[in-house]
Amino acid sequence: MKAAQTAPRIAISNVTLGYEGHPAVHHLSGEIVAGSLTAVVGPNGSGKSTLLKGIVGLLKPIHGGIEIDGLGRGSISYLPQQANIDRTFPISVEEMASLGLWSRCRSFGGVSRGQREMVGKAISAVGLDGFEQRTLDTLSGGQVQRVLFARVLVQDSPLILLDEPFNAIDVSTAADLMNLIERWHKEKRTVVAVMHDLDLARERFPNALLLAREKIAWGATSEVITSANLLKARAMSECWDDAAPWCEREAV
Ligand code: ADP
Ligand code: MG
Repeated sequence: MKAAQTAPRIAISNVTLGYEGHPAVHHLSGEIVAGSLTAVVGPNGSGKSTLLKGIVGLLKPIHGGIEIDGLGRGSISYLPQQANIDRTFPISVEEMASLGLWSRCRSFGGVSRGQREMVGKAISAVGLDGFEQRTLDTLSGGQVQRVLFARVLVQDSPLILLDEPFNAIDVSTAADLMNLIERWHKEKRTVVAVMHDLDLARERFPNALLLAREKIAWGATSEVITSANLLKARAMSECWDDAAPWCEREAV
C-alpha cells in the first residue's frame, strides 16, 4: 500500500463524552500528533473505547470538540473492540477484505483489476494466502482478526484507530499484526490503538495516553506508563460511580 500523503493530527479540546447523561470521559484535552503511534491504556471502564468512538464521530461530545486536520477526503479506518462480525454470514475472506474499498468507491460497482490486486496483496500481507475463498465461519478468531487487518490495509486510510486489536488472539497472530501496525507508522499514518498489554505498549508504541475517565498522563510512553501513574489510575477507577450525573466542574 502507498504511504499516506499527509498524516492527520487530532486536536482534542476539553472534551466530555458519555452515554445517556452519564459521563465516561471528562474534560480531556491534548493532541494526537500527525504521524504518531499512540497506545491508549487504562483500567476497564476508563473510557478508552468511548474516546475512540468520539474520534470516529460515532459519539458526539457533550462538551468540547475533536478536530481532525489533514484527513482530506479520506475516511478513518476504525476497528471496534471485538468487532461484531456475524461469522455465520457466508462472506469470503476476499469479499470481507474488499469491503475496505467501499469507503473510497462509495458504491458496490465493479472492482477494477488494480483494486483486485490490492485486495490480493493485503490478504497475502496478513498471512492468509490461499484462504481467499474460505468463508469466515471456517476461520479461527486470530484468522478473522487477520482478515479485518487486511480490510484496513485495503482501506489505505491515513488515520487508523484500533480498539484492543490483540484481544483473545494467539501470540503469533498478535506479533504479525503488531508488525503491520509498525509498518503503518513507518508509512507516516497516524495510528491510535487501545492496548491491554502494557509491556507491548511500552516496547512498541512511542506515545501513550493513560486514561482513567480523565487524563492521567499523555506523552512519551516511558513517561506515561510508570508505576506512579498506574497507581493513580487504579485509585481513580475505585471511585467511579456510573450513576453520577454530568460533572459540574468548571471548564479548564
Ligand atoms: P473501556 O474501553 O476503557 O473499558 P468504555 O469506554 O467502554 O471503557 O466505557 C466507559 C464507561 O462508559 C463505562 O462505565 C461503561 O459502562 C460506559 N459505557 C460504555 N458503552 C456504553 C453504552 N453503549 N451505553 C452506556 N454506557 C456505556
Ligand atoms: Mg474498551
